[in-house]
Amino acid sequence: MQQFYRFKRQHPDCVLLFRIGDFYETFDDDAVTLSKVLGLTLTRRTEGLPMAGVPFHQLEVYLRRALAAGLRVAVADQLEDSAVAKGLVQRGVTRVVTPGTLVDEALLDEDASTTIAAVCFTGTGDDSFVALALIEASTGEFTVSHVSSATAADELVRRRAREVLFADAGGPPPSRVQRLLSLVALPGTARPAWHFRLEEAAHALRSHFAVKTLAGFGLGDTDLLLTAAGALVRYLKETQTPEVAPGADGTIGALAPRATLAHLRPPRREEPAGFCVVDAVSLRALEVERVLRPGAATATAAVVDRSLVGTFLGTGAACVCKTAMGKRLLRDWLCRPLGTLDAINARQAAVALFVSDRRVAAELAIALAGVQDIARIAARVSLDRATPRDVVALGTSVIRLPMISAPLESAPVLAAYVAQLADLGSSLTPLAEHIVAACVESPPPHMRDGGFFKDGVDAALDEARLLQRDGGTWLSAYQERLARELDLPGLKVGFNKVFGYYIELPAAQSKRAPAALERKQTLKNAERYTTPELREFERKTLTAESRGLDRERELFRELTDRIRRHLAELQRFAAAVAALDALLGLADRAVAKGWTRPEVVSESVLHIEGGRHPVLEELLGTEFVPNDLTLGSGGGNSGDSSGSLALVTGPNMAGKSTFIRQVALIVLLAHAGSFVPASRATVGLCDRIFTRIGADDALHAGQSTFMVEMTETAAILNHATPSSLIILDEIGRGTSTYDGLSLAWAIAEHLAANPPAANPRTLFATHYHELTALEERLPGRVRNLHVAVREWPSQSDPGHTEIVFLHRILPGRADQSYGVHVARLAGLPRAVIDRAREVLASLDATNNQPIAPHHPIAGRTPVQPPGGQLSLFTEFVAHPAVDQLRELKLESLSPIQAFDLLRRLKESVGE
Ligand code: ADP
Ligand code: MG
Repeated sequence: MQQFYRFKRQHPDCVLLFRIGDFYETFDDDAVTLSKVLGLTLTRRTEGLPMAGVPFHQLEVYLRRALAAGLRVAVADQLEDSAVAKGLVQRGVTRVVTPGTLVDEALLDEDASTTIAAVCFTGTGDDSFVALALIEASTGEFTVSHVSSATAADELVRRRAREVLFADAGGPPPSRVQRLLSLVALPGTARPAWHFRLEEAAHALRSHFAVKTLAGFGLGDTDLLLTAAGALVRYLKETQTPEVAPGADGTIGALAPRATLAHLRPPRREEPAGFCVVDAVSLRALEVERVLRPGAATATAAVVDRSLVGTFLGTGAACVCKTAMGKRLLRDWLCRPLGTLDAINARQAAVALFVSDRRVAAELAIALAGVQDIARIAARVSLDRATPRDVVALGTSVIRLPMISAPLESAPVLAAYVAQLADLGSSLTPLAEHIVAACVESPPPHMRDGGFFKDGVDAALDEARLLQRDGGTWLSAYQERLARELDLPGLKVGFNKVFGYYIELPAAQSKRAPAALERKQTLKNAERYTTPELREFERKTLTAESRGLDRERELFRELTDRIRRHLAELQRFAAAVAALDALLGLADRAVAKGWTRPEVVSESVLHIEGGRHPVLEELLGTEFVPNDLTLGSGGGNSGDSSGSLALVTGPNMAGKSTFIRQVALIVLLAHAGSFVPASRATVGLCDRIFTRIGADDALHAGQSTFMVEMTETAAILNHATPSSLIILDEIGRGTSTYDGLSLAWAIAEHLAANPPAANPRTLFATHYHELTALEERLPGRVRNLHVAVREWPSQSDPGHTEIVFLHRILPGRADQSYGVHVARLAGLPRAVIDRAREVLASLDATNNQPIAPHHPIAGRTPVQPPGGQLSLFTEFVAHPAVDQLRELKLESLSPIQAFDLLRRLKESVGE
């Protein structure tokens, strides 16, 4: 218990799991907490001390659940073999498990990377920025960047941060930290403020990477970015490679892990200019990674992931990638499209090659299919957490290197990959060959059972194994000899874990047992004995067994040490495989769906022919109606401006949202280097893609919707540049009609205020038909588009019309909203539909009159509802006071008359 409490004091913010034999136990308050969270039975030890435990081989399962419940867990292991330990077994905390630092296969999603972040705010007000450091713990990828507070949240979401470190100033987190944490919905991890001090942080980095200066990493020694980066490295060190105190005899137990952070790559500075920024709200609105309303997906039984990433990385055959590394990279490419022509063209060229040369593609696919998650295995090797299976997977994967590179040799576009693979092969192939030659094909899950190395690999191991195997032969010969010599046919030689080897006689024969058999144990129906000969045999085999296991563990350490010397090469190999896999995935998708290579240009244009929605076309197949679009100056062949802002009107359910999103997704795919779902596309380079959805679309359920909508819109108006693409869907819906319309109007006007080339390209879908007037007011800048609807006289409902949505986008404005039709299609009761038509007619009749919406009092021409109740709809008819005001001649009023009039007006509104 002293040991337990000592560790507990070192990790007060963690639940402590303490290895005792085959269990991880915990005591005291931790036991109460864990038993609640994990549903464990709480037992009591001496003096009523609460205690709870989990079997050691299920640690991962319980860790996953503990993390999900928001706990941090410190794991204390036995550092020496309890059989050989003198006195108290030496233990030490070998790792601290936190949400951001996971590396075990069982605790991670294969196709999504997660990160841990550190943030450090500098400056105040408008000058403030965040030093942001991000590490993908499971691979060692390390990036740093200077960002604004708003961008920090986007980055944390996009990189799937699971934990955020910040400087603890004492007391509750500073408000800007709190704001950031609440934006990304993550609990923060407070760290001592001095870890973030420039000198301390720089020192932590220099000593970790063993360099005198950080200039080689593109970081000045006084760069404020170092603050977050240094604090983060220090944290990883503490949690992943905690220092283990020597035992009483001054040494560290033989079983102590030898974890290192050697897999951690030097920090790479991210330049925002290299990317087309898609902020977190836009990623969500475009359903890039996740659908907004998963429940409303398809009615089909199979759960289809209708996100953009989901259509690439579906399960089984639906997934275009062959390796976990490829999946993670492709996801990253789609969430962070490129921002420069060179980079985009390079990716496109490789995709184009795989599209046109299907033989190369097929051969590469076969080669990649057997490659396991080298990136994460390399990290586990470094942290001394690799399993035998990891090592074999590494060997069988890396040995495919020549197979991967062979098909690429015929393609000049891929020359850089061929050269890199050749270079890596010279050092990695011998390693892989060694692993494959030395290790069994299907290894045991743990080293403790042995059986990992093949026979013939090591003389000492072979000898120990021979003894054990020979033992079997010896035993059966011994049993036969004894039975014969003593004339006891029922005699058996057996083994169990507690009593070791024994000779067993059925009770009936035990009376005839000679004195040479020494009684060992009495069972219900049998007696067990031993002999000096058997004891000698036992001693020899048991030591042979443990000698064999020890030797295997030693060989395993040697092997992982050898792998450690190649970490950097393994990481480069992993990166090359990931890139090839992702490129091939893009190509396969393009071929399967008939996508084309977009022409990406530097001018601010957008021209799409036969564009489709990449996800909906999957679901609707040929029923999907393709559409065209030209936006921006000099688009297509027209030469002339077609306007920078397109206003899309049309009835509900016509396809407005689908159309504007598909345009954004095509632009996004083009920037990711992908082919696009269109028969032809010219895409002008974008610095940002903004997408906002009006609050009323039930998409922000539970939030103060209109505030959210306006905050998001403000961010667009403040940050959009002439090279941005803006998608606005029903903005202004979250408030009353007049507010909303006015805001929508002003926003549209603002976005089209400059000459077309100086405006962001904007698509604005709206049900405010009034906005279509902007086309005339801002000619050459705003263009009306509408979704075509066909109508004809209804058969079943004489006097009314039926409509069919054609989903076709055409120039010009929509003339009606057809909302009532849609409601009918949706199955609203007939009486409600009829009443709605009446009301609509009355509204149309008063359409050109001023409206006093907040005066629901009797008017001149009330629309009498059925049942004679007070009309709800008189509010749409002008109040007489309004008419009086309109007719008023101010010049002819004396002050007294004016006062008198005011009084009468007030009376007439009932007060
Ligand atoms: P709106 O935003 O105008 O209300 P949506 O874009 O939400 O309409 O589209 C409603 C439905 O119409 C979609 O769920 C889809 O089933 C169908 N749809 C939209 N666009 C197309 C299209 N181009 N081809 C075929 N069906 C479409
Ligand atoms: Mg819509």
